[in-house]
Amino acid sequence: MLTNYVYKLRPNIAQQLKMSNWVDMLRSHYNWCLNDRLTQYAQQYIQGDYCDIRTKAEACPITCFVSKNGATGEAWKDSQQKNPRRSAGDIQITALPELKKARPWYAEIDSTVLQQNVKRLDIAYKNFFVRAACPKSIGRGFPKFKNRSNFTSFTYVMGVKVQGDKIYLPKLGWMRFFNSRPIPTGFTIKACTLRKRQDGWYVSIRIEDKTVPDYVVKPLTEVKKIIGCDFGITKLVHLSDNYQIENPKFLTNKKTKRILKVRQRRVNQKVKSSANRKKATIKVGKLHKIIADKRQAYQWYVANKIVSKNVDAIAVEDLNVSAMKRRCKPKVDEQTGRFLKNGQSRKKGLNRSISDASWSDLILKIEYLAAKSGKVVIKVNPKHTSQKCQNCGHIDKSNRDREKFICISCGWMHHADINAAKNIRDKAFSIVREDFSELKRPKQRCGDITALYEQTP
Ligand SMILES: [Zn+2]
Repeated sequence: MLTNYVYKLRPNIAQQLKMSNWVDMLRSHYNWCLNDRLTQYAQQYIQGDYCDIRTKAEACPITCFVSKNGATGEAWKDSQQKNPRRSAGDIQITALPELKKARPWYAEIDSTVLQQNVKRLDIAYKNFFVRAACPKSIGRGFPKFKNRSNFTSFTYVMGVKVQGDKIYLPKLGWMRFFNSRPIPTGFTIKACTLRKRQDGWYVSIRIEDKTVPDYVVKPLTEVKKIIGCDFGITKLVHLSDNYQIENPKFLTNKKTKRILKVRQRRVNQKVKSSANRKKATIKVGKLHKIIADKRQAYQWYVANKIVSKNVDAIAVEDLNVSAMKRRCKPKVDEQTGRFLKNGQSRKKGLNRSISDASWSDLILKIEYLAAKSGKVVIKVNPKHTSQKCQNCGHIDKSNRDREKFICISCGWMHHADINAAKNIRDKAFSIVREDFSELKRPKQRCGDITALYEQTP
């Protein structure tokens, strides 16, 4: 079994400076590697032959990102191995010693950390190709250049030791940490990621014990009882057993909004690039962290509550949150060419509430806990779930009047969201009964699942 444990680190000042320095260097290395691959690809695209120089066979420009004449190293391995071609990642890893020669300060960084940095780009490319091959699947967009706000971590895969409340990190030395829960005996350290957050450094240790079996998920044929969940904003979750779960709105409640506004204003009032402005910015960041932590804790509580119900499967909507948060289309006056009001300023508030509810994070937690207790999560198409009548099956938009559901065909009345939750449950039942063999089980998102492990309290 493979899991992650997260601890808060207690680095000394020298170690803190060193780690921040490393992150800066690694970010610039990441961006340099991405740029190298982009230029190579552009060169080959213009020249017309994409990759296979030995056989001169044509290759698809979308799926191949191997360099013919990249800035970094030889594209072929010396020996006659099965697959003698190096991938772009291999090329960039073998070029690391040259990087250290040209820029000696990179030698300060542990070599496995540098290698993992290149692999991080490999993973970004891999996620992108998953989606390029099948647009409907879960994948990511094209790798992006990173900045200070979205590149805050690095990973070790070797040499990490833990003794009591001290951890040894190669080239950083022994560091103290808050040993909030001991690593169970029998588990070995596979990797460890250091991450900078607003209030300090955290380490996420990936541990494995091969003797402990993985969780077994129940097959769909054995599913008897299903509970349906409808996610919302006024109430976070409505369940098909008439149960409702509150939404505390950690970011968008009146009090937090006010505090955030004041703190943000304090930043804006300070002189740019002054020390006081920096201090004020840190205060804003810390508030955001507190909000994020509260949300995290509450979502685990909610997910636990849903999963611990006496059911075999949990049915949720397959939401496309980024589509829900899309901006309104601009309206243009045809005569004057001026922009008219399109309701975006109203939508902005709704978008914030959607982000604050963060349903997809909650679904991930439900999936994780369900897998842990041997239950299944069934994702259903959300189409018509809030418009269909539970009593007679009539589908109409005007059935719903905010929180009330009144069927215009049979006059049946119910709470609108609980009606939706019941529809979701019924959809899941039809999936289980009829075509469970054809049902495409949602693919596990590796990136997100890793993120999830790191959230485990
Ligand atoms: Zn009806």
